[in-house]
Amino acid sequence: MEALLYKKLNDGKIQCQNCAHYCVISSGKRGICGVRENQNGKLYSLVYGKAIAINIDPIEKKPFYHFLPNSYSLSVATVGCNFKCASCQNYDISQLTGSIKGQEISSKEIVELALKNKLPSISYTYTEPAIFSEYALDTMKLAKKKGIKNCWVSNGFWSKELFDLISPYLDAVNIDLKSFEDDFYIKYCGGRLEPVLDNLKRLKKKKIWVEITTLIIPTLNDSEKIFRNIANFIKNELGPETPWHITKFCGAISWRLQNLSDTPVKTLKKAYQIGKKTGLKYVHIGNVPELDTE
Ligand code: SF4
Ligand code: SF4
Repeated sequence: MEALLYKKLNDGKIQCQNCAHYCVISSGKRGICGVRENQNGKLYSLVYGKAIAINIDPIEKKPFYHFLPNSYSLSVATVGCNFKCASCQNYDISQLTGSIKGQEISSKEIVELALKNKLPSISYTYTEPAIFSEYALDTMKLAKKKGIKNCWVSNGFWSKELFDLISPYLDAVNIDLKSFEDDFYIKYCGGRLEPVLDNLKRLKKKKIWVEITTLIIPTLNDSEKIFRNIANFIKNELGPETPWHITKFCGAISWRLQNLSDTPVKTLKKAYQIGKKTGLKYVHIGNVPELDTE
């Protein structure tokens, strides 16, 4: 399917305007995500209609703790991602490009599946929904008509153009705020911090329900200063009612950080205390069953 957001440049090159990378792509090449290709001066999404995963999950697994609680959500993903997080736990599909894999399923069939299973929401998740935005958007439009809510679980590294396109159909987002340092985003994710913060502010302005997740990785983003900066940003820019999920990192299931140990419980508790002390109403520790603060 032809991509929705791009512009033509000289010499057959195009600029993709779908995410904050704004890749300039020569004819025959793909962008950073590996799933958008310049074919003779036109940009195509290679993942449209090709789901690599379709599951029914508890909405708390996304995680959403304050949006349709105790319900199930139809979760959909394609291959590909615009980030390359060393900590990625879904790298088997997020970094799987080359020859594009996936089950052919139309947006209409996805919505019918949600209706058949009486699911009140569809979650665009596991990889990065921005990179399958055309597929997600068509599904979201049909879902909205049927009264089904649309939830994105995302890194938030979208272009402003993408925000404008999807926000009328979005009901809830869980955005990974992976650190509060640009260096971390550059070195460990292949992204940048500022576009994520800009989109969070836009989401808030549009009154879309926002929850934030931070995976705490020992030695990389586990300082008290980072916890304080994230908590202050959430409180001041998004509001104290915005939930903050602090989750435990497990090196063994990460893409490229097997050398790091798991997050100590005392670090998670420290982040929790800082969140609460800053004035956040809802701080949740994730991946530690005995500390689940739901
Ligand atoms: S979606 Fe982002 S990473 Fe992919 S081609 Fe477009 S600008 Fe590049
Ligand atoms: S953690 Fe998320 S944003 Fe990062 S590479 Fe994996 S799917 Fe992409």
